[in-house]
Amino acid sequence: MKRMSQKRIKGKPIMSECIFCKIASGEMNADIVYRDDKVVAFRDIAPQAPVHVIIIPADHVERIEAVKNYDIFGEIFRAINVIIKDDATGAFKQGFRVVSNSGRAGGQTVDHLHFHLLSGRQMLWPPG
Ligand code: AMP
Repeated sequence: MKRMSQKRIKGKPIMSECIFCKIASGEMNADIVYRDDKVVAFRDIAPQAPVHVIIIPADHVERIEAVKNYDIFGEIFRAINVIIKDDATGAFKQGFRVVSNSGRAGGQTVDHLHFHLLSGRQMLWPPG
């Protein structure tokens, strides 16, 4: 896996090559739907459902097993609940899926921990 250089912006760790760090810092544009000190959520650039939001920790961590402070999972799921409650489309009332791809065989393509929040269509199981 390619090593990324680490720098700090306002004391926070930023991976210079990480697109999700760039979105979190505002260096790269995204359709942001939620933001607080610890969590940022934005619409997926290649949506796999009518509603497809990516939820990330603002600070860089590669994936689930790299997390040291598990509080971030609570913060992420709190943000997910805010997004669901604020949704005006009604899609979430019908159901939704939250998934985190981890590692290459898990389908992860961006090495910054993230959860996909998908809704607005019938989900299939098992996933591909
Ligand atoms: P994964 O394949 O699980 O690592 O998910 C990465 C997701 O990030 C994919 O669904 C991509 O479509 C999405 N993505 C990549 N670049 C961007 C971007 N600049 N803005 C929004 N979503 C992105």
